[in-house]
Amino acid sequence: MKRRDMLRTAVGAATVLAAAAEASASQPKKSGSGHGIFDVVVIGAGVFGVWTAEHLLRAGRSVLLLDAWGPGHSRATSGGETRLIRMSYGANELYTRWTMRSLDEWKALAKDSGEPIFNRTGVLRMGPAGHPYITDSEKTLKALGVPFEHLDAAALARRFPQIGMEQLGAGLFEPDSGVLLARRGIQAAAERCSTRGASVLVDAALPPSGGGELRELSTASGARYRGKQFVFACGPWLPKLFPALLGKLITVPRAEVFFLGLPGGDRRFAAPDMPGWIDETSDTYGTPDIEYRGFKVGIDPPRAPFDPDTAVRVVSEESIARMRAYVRKRFPGLADAPVVETRVCQYEETASGDFLIDRHPGFSNVWIAGGGSGHGFKLGPSVGEYVAERVLTGDAPDPRFAIATHQRGARRAVD
Ligand SMILES: Cc1cc2nc3c(=O)[nH]c(=O)nc-3n(C[C@H](O)[C@H](O)[C@H](O)COP(=O)(O)OP(=O)(O)OC[C@H]3O[C@@H](n4cnc5c(N)ncnc54)[C@H](O)[C@@H]3O)c2cc1C
Repeated sequence: MKRRDMLRTAVGAATVLAAAAEASASQPKKSGSGHGIFDVVVIGAGVFGVWTAEHLLRAGRSVLLLDAWGPGHSRATSGGETRLIRMSYGANELYTRWTMRSLDEWKALAKDSGEPIFNRTGVLRMGPAGHPYITDSEKTLKALGVPFEHLDAAALARRFPQIGMEQLGAGLFEPDSGVLLARRGIQAAAERCSTRGASVLVDAALPPSGGGELRELSTASGARYRGKQFVFACGPWLPKLFPALLGKLITVPRAEVFFLGLPGGDRRFAAPDMPGWIDETSDTYGTPDIEYRGFKVGIDPPRAPFDPDTAVRVVSEESIARMRAYVRKRFPGLADAPVVETRVCQYEETASGDFLIDRHPGFSNVWIAGGGSGHGFKLGPSVGEYVAERVLTGDAPDPRFAIATHQRGARRAVD
């Protein structure tokens, strides 16, 4: 059976990946790095980890990609069904550029894997007239040649009659953006790493102890993996792994997502009529009906610390009531739509919303990549490229990503 077919079987992808990796090459390829030593051990097969591994493999390095529960598992932040990809980042040109590059990579992965990872639904950012984020985004998109349409209140109401207009006066529509199939994208990326020669294994890394140069990584199963460099891309688990260093720099709040069943035969809330959307009036976002799974509404509960290992992932009646009040106003055609599915996830947030990418100050060959801050999924390919470059060259990261900058603290500047 081909590896892709193996992955598609109903058997857990994690088990299959581990078996596939063992069967193909569980030892590092000869790379001049010595026998049995991986050039790089990447811990965490979420979006940051799989794309870091991908770029290291492209650079000819031997890679071990390790995940405690397997790529795209239910508790991972990258394990949701869908994530928006949009180019608008206000005046933050770097993130717009990185998203442009990342979209090309996601499309290429879709082609390589045969999975419908990118859905070009368009993305609509809506808000009051003159909303600074919309105005700044339009300036950046124009400067970078990204296609978009500005919609005033009348145009917005005409184009999207299924949207309730209360508090709305402007829309920024990106026709080439859309929705990524997150879990399947991660699994396809991990599978591609495996076919490129990476060892992809399910095992939980123990935090490194001591300092200086890390020579080997110990795991919960008792295994030890030798490596020249190590990248911890462990999303919301990073503060647990490195409490002294990251406990205060990355917070992990709860996030909730609802899927509403559409009225029978009604396609107003599916593409092409309905795009992905972000509502600046309420910090809510969502997707149209994708693969007939329902209209997605992401609406955050009051902030509270969340344990990614043990938290109960069931939404409360209060959360459902909050979501209903919002939907009644913004999407009145779905006011009585049944909740067909819910998901409880978590963000891993830095104070500024910038990612945290840096060398561990206590180890010469340990890197940390995380702090996705609720917007990192789309950018995985560019983040992976950036992290791989740091690992390969030893270059210091841009100050915006550095641990020292995050330690100084900053107000949220990236959304
Ligand atoms: C509800 C919700 C909606 C979002 N919407 C969007 C969106 O629309 N667009 C967007 O771009 N972004 C979005 N994001 C943000 C995005 O999903 C995250 O920024 C991104 O997925 C973070 O990826 P990661 O690789 O850092 O972490 P994760 O995906 O959590 O991956 C970390 C991995 O590390 C592994 N790990 C942890 N500890 C260990 C260990 N000791 N040993 C081995 N492995 C370990 C875990 O098992 C996990 O698989 C959203 C997030 C949430 C929660």
